[in-house]
Amino acid sequence: MFHPGWRDNSLKMLDNHVDVAIIGGGITGCGIALDAAQRGLKTVLLERGDIASGTSSRSSKLIHGGLRYLKQMQFRITRLACRERDRMLTLDPHLVRSINCVYPAYQGDRTPGWQVDLGLWMYDRLTGRPEKHRQLTRKEIAELAPGLRTDELDRALAYTDGVADDARLTWAVAATAHSYGAAVLPRMEVEDALRNTEGRITGLLVRDLENERVVPLEARVVINAAGVWTDAVRFRLGL
Ligand SMILES: Cc1cc2nc3c(=O)[nH]c(=O)nc-3n(C[C@H](O)[C@H](O)[C@H](O)COP(=O)(O)OP(=O)(O)OC[C@H]3O[C@@H](n4cnc5c(N)ncnc54)[C@H](O)[C@@H]3O)c2cc1C
Repeated sequence: MFHPGWRDNSLKMLDNHVDVAIIGGGITGCGIALDAAQRGLKTVLLERGDIASGTSSRSSKLIHGGLRYLKQMQFRITRLACRERDRMLTLDPHLVRSINCVYPAYQGDRTPGWQVDLGLWMYDRLTGRPEKHRQLTRKEIAELAPGLRTDELDRALAYTDGVADDARLTWAVAATAHSYGAAVLPRMEVEDALRNTEGRITGLLVRDLENERVVPLEARVVINAAGVWTDAVRFRLGL
């Protein structure tokens, strides 16, 4: 993990030229930093707030949002999401755990119970895990979900999914990237781009919010991983 001098050490890197400068310390930026650092590239990750302070700490905490892609009939991406979830359940049990869910389907719902049942049947088949979804009996509903309204309940379906503390997961990826040599710098806001005479981006102008110092950073490649702020960053960089 990070040691007391990690910020100072990382800041020293800013005096130099880096291979990859990544804007945004969410899960996307941290993942890119990890990949780049593992390839031996001199990498810096710049985040204006704290690591995972954007949407990466505000998700539903379900790994890949559970059933949502299936509802949109995106079978390929659902299968990929299930596989990655299962891999994470095996590789990262300290970060990702299994959660039991109950889906109550009421008469007159826009998505009828039989369709949810069918969707969960498909969801079962997209994963290699042994647990399969099932319909709860009235007795089980009373025991497992006593607060559930049962009048006009068509069926209650039990299934399992993967859940994580999203901010902790993002931090773990950032820490791993750092352990491979990436400079991970929170409280660094990207303000502008450095350009050569042909107008090509050659780096970034970054404000250190700890001391309001603006520092130029030369980079061979700049990656915009600012999530919902991607367009705002593009605007700042004049793209
Ligand atoms: C309500 C909700 C529920 C969700 N549920 C799920 C779910 O269940 N499962 C799932 O897999 N996904 C879910 N998501 C989506 C998931 O949270 C996002 O896809 C993911 O967090 C995006 O990560 P990111 O790194 O692209 O963006 P972010 O985490 O937002 O990171 C972008 C970072 O860029 C930084 N930044 C912006 N401008 C600058 C600048 N000028 N200089 C430096 N840094 C800057 C920001 O501070 C921010 O930290 C959900 C999202 C929301 C909002």
